[in-house]
Amino acid sequence: MSLKGKAAVVTGSTSGIGLAIARALAKDGADVMLNGFGKPDDIAAAVAGVQSDFGVRCAHSDADMTKPDEIAGMIAQATKTFDAVDILVNNAGVQFVSPVESFPPQKWDQILAINLSAAFHAMSAAVPVMKARGWGRIISTASAHSKVASPFKSAYVAAKHGLDGLSKTVALEVATHGITVNCISPGYVWTPLVENQIPETMAARGLTREQVINDVLLEAQPTKQFVKVEEVAALAVFLCSDAAAQITGANLSIDGGWTAE
Ligand code: NAD
Repeated sequence: MSLKGKAAVVTGSTSGIGLAIARALAKDGADVMLNGFGKPDDIAAAVAGVQSDFGVRCAHSDADMTKPDEIAGMIAQATKTFDAVDILVNNAGVQFVSPVESFPPQKWDQILAINLSAAFHAMSAAVPVMKARGWGRIISTASAHSKVASPFKSAYVAAKHGLDGLSKTVALEVATHGITVNCISPGYVWTPLVENQIPETMAARGLTREQVINDVLLEAQPTKQFVKVEEVAALAVFLCSDAAAQITGANLSIDGGWTAE
């Protein structure tokens, strides 16, 4: 329970990696603000699950990560609810797969807003709260695509490379304030985000579902296995520990060897 007394905001935590990170932080004792979309009953169940499973405080913000004022409002809501924001996990993200010449401009704008600009707005609002307490952990769920590219993912790859640069920059700015800023870069993790891009990839590359899974997704990962959400969450919890105090400005791969090739 090393995170007892700390408060965390995890964006995009009604599903997938974000929910796993939020639950792992709560298991370690942190109060948690969930964020993201979904059916009201499912969100209420996620909040109640964190409260009853781990005995911490938990709330939900419905802030839309495309809206800077709502992002600032989420950090303010968390500060009011928990008296602090000690941990910020920029995790909300969306994907769209298409050749660049037919990539819809509104999809480009949406992906840049959610996967990159939202992290800027959240960091901007949370850093003063962390500085006031002399301690903080900022983690952004980047991707192997923050280090290498794949065709047909122009907006996603651009946003994730940008997230790495943003994270390094803020790490330098807050280095003497007890605040670390890092990226976690998973390879393919089996979540709705990956499942939902299979039909688009089938269309873009003219492949079957099995071919997309084995020849495109797992082809990238030398271990030939999907990363598990619990494995990503465990790395996030480690980055929040005192043992990780000197890890800052890093972009840590958890990708089955993908970016070693
Ligand atoms: P997911 O689709 O399961 O979850 C995405 C979350 O973001 C959901 O909670 C959703 O409600 C939320 N969200 C979407 N748009 C939002 C908005 N406008 N405002 C607020 N919340 C919004 O996806 P996931 O696979 O768990 O992905 C989480 C993060 O991990 C993303 O940043 C993604 O790019 C990154 N990532 C995923 C993989 C993978 O293989 N799944 C690999 C590398 C990186």
